[in-house]
Amino acid sequence: MTNTPEQVLKDVFGYEQFRGPQRAIIDELLAGRHALVLMPTGGGKSLCYQIPSLLRPGVGIVISPLIALMQDQVDALRELGVRASFLNSSLSLEAQREVMQALRSGALDMLYVAPERLTQPATLDLLRSVQIALFAIDEAHCVSQWGHDFRADYLQLSLLQEQFPHVPRIALTATADANTREEIVARLGLADSQHFVSGFDRPNIQYRITQKQTPRQQLLRFLRREHEKDAGIVYCLSRKKVDDTAAWLVEQGFDAVPYHAGLTPEQRQRHQQRFLREDGVIVVATIAFGMGIDKPDVRFIVHLDLPKSLEAFYQETGRAGRDGQPATAWMVYGLQDVIMLRQMMDASQGSESFKRIERARLDAMLGLCEISSCRRQALLHYFGEQAPEHCGNCDACLTPAPTWDGTEAARKALSCVYRTGQRFGVNYLIDVLLGAESDKIFQNAHQHLSTYGIGRELAANAWRSVFRQLVARGYLNVDHTSYGGLHLAEKARALLKGEERIDLRVDVQEVLAKPQKKARGTAQVGDADRVLWDALRECRRRLAEEKDVPPYVIFHDASLMDMVHYRPLTSQQFLDISGVGQSKLEKYGEAFLQVIREHESGH
Ligand code: ADP
Ligand code: ZN
Repeated sequence: MTNTPEQVLKDVFGYEQFRGPQRAIIDELLAGRHALVLMPTGGGKSLCYQIPSLLRPGVGIVISPLIALMQDQVDALRELGVRASFLNSSLSLEAQREVMQALRSGALDMLYVAPERLTQPATLDLLRSVQIALFAIDEAHCVSQWGHDFRADYLQLSLLQEQFPHVPRIALTATADANTREEIVARLGLADSQHFVSGFDRPNIQYRITQKQTPRQQLLRFLRREHEKDAGIVYCLSRKKVDDTAAWLVEQGFDAVPYHAGLTPEQRQRHQQRFLREDGVIVVATIAFGMGIDKPDVRFIVHLDLPKSLEAFYQETGRAGRDGQPATAWMVYGLQDVIMLRQMMDASQGSESFKRIERARLDAMLGLCEISSCRRQALLHYFGEQAPEHCGNCDACLTPAPTWDGTEAARKALSCVYRTGQRFGVNYLIDVLLGAESDKIFQNAHQHLSTYGIGRELAANAWRSVFRQLVARGYLNVDHTSYGGLHLAEKARALLKGEERIDLRVDVQEVLAKPQKKARGTAQVGDADRVLWDALRECRRRLAEEKDVPPYVIFHDASLMDMVHYRPLTSQQFLDISGVGQSKLEKYGEAFLQVIREHESGH
């Protein structure tokens, strides 16, 4: 019997070492304590409760709202030899009875339960009668009434601390804002437990934003060069554009399907299922697609239209590369996007203040598009996180844009924010800089300020770009809750005092994005390895079809990549492949070794 976390990691999951805080979190649970875990998508949250579930006596109960995913999660665990089941409304009564029986007789290592199911008296009675290793509350932000994923059933989970005070609870989420965190802690009784907060960064995602020229041709080049047979999502704003784009991609030889609210539920279900179950399907979608999609090998996310906010951008691009392998977030944007979004916002039913907030969010999104500095740094800064100046894996780091010395302009802009009392929005500040004669300026007596009219050397548009870049790079903060007013960030001090200089991106519409030096497509398989890669994928597809599970349940891309690199020829060597534990070696070792041997002997 295996007995240390390291042994379980290797023998069951086939991995060499723990990532980030995984080991520390597991230790907390093994010691019988609770934990709160904030980790970005793809960070490896599941192992944090799966391994303690296997090591502690009793069954690990996983509470998740994503009913549609339970089957796949359980299938994946069973492939690893873990005795897992799930309980939710999709099961027949007979099947439910079987699961309850297995639970009663101690035949389960892990049980996934929907929250509404868990809180039923019958379920609670049953749980009280068996030994429980731990409760894992996945997607824990659903307890938060602030968030958009609030679930009333999650509120009732406070009963866990009342009825099972001695069973360790681990709450996990990828949503990290302070309000949400506080609510999770309060509702789930985690005040005295350790909090594990990992950064927001998704280092394997390459962020690229390009001026829109001929979007279809740009998209085609991108896909052909970098993601020929990969699965991905292409987001568009309108249903019509989704339909047109999907049809056009099919004409170009891609396996693409549309997804939007105008399709019948059956069509949507079928297209989603193809995306999940088959290799290399592209979904062209409105934002309605993606919630609860847990496909690990999405290799690219494309935005053909500008998302409404950085929150939306981060969430949508976050669906790429959950398996930790290289993935691309690629976007084209143009002035038309901005106008269209503005119009949609202005026409919406919301109050004036709501619209103002929406506008400030859009400006932050634009800021990300326009900066010349590292995209990742700006993105992380927006979410309140520090980041190095250069990530080396975004277009700004890989192919720097032309810049100008914006030190003087930035200083004028910052000092104008300061002089006007750090509460006005961009339009007003620009009016002051240009020395406009508006009623509002006279009412505030701002025509007497030293910054009044000192910015006439630049046009309003150029000032707009200066402000956006200052916001995006963390010199100015936007007040999200009021009028979109700007105030100075700590970082602005050195620039204002003349201790620092700054380069700003030139606002050029006509510059064509330079092609990437090196494509980072399908997990970076070189041409020489293509044949073996394709053969391994074919083997995986065949096995997945036989078992009626998604291909990644058999092996992740990372495992196939490893096989391509190391070309194992024996079972022992096969065990060294990432993601290969005892169970997968027994089930699939021979099939894949056969493919590799054939390939090697053919050379
Ligand atoms: P999350 O739930 O945080 O989005 P997952 O638990 O699904 O992330 O893990 C993301 C991917 O990383 C999975 O493919 C998982 O198998 C893999 N993974 C997790 N921990 C490790 C590790 N220690 N070594 C290698 N791969 C890991
Ligand atoms: Zn960068």
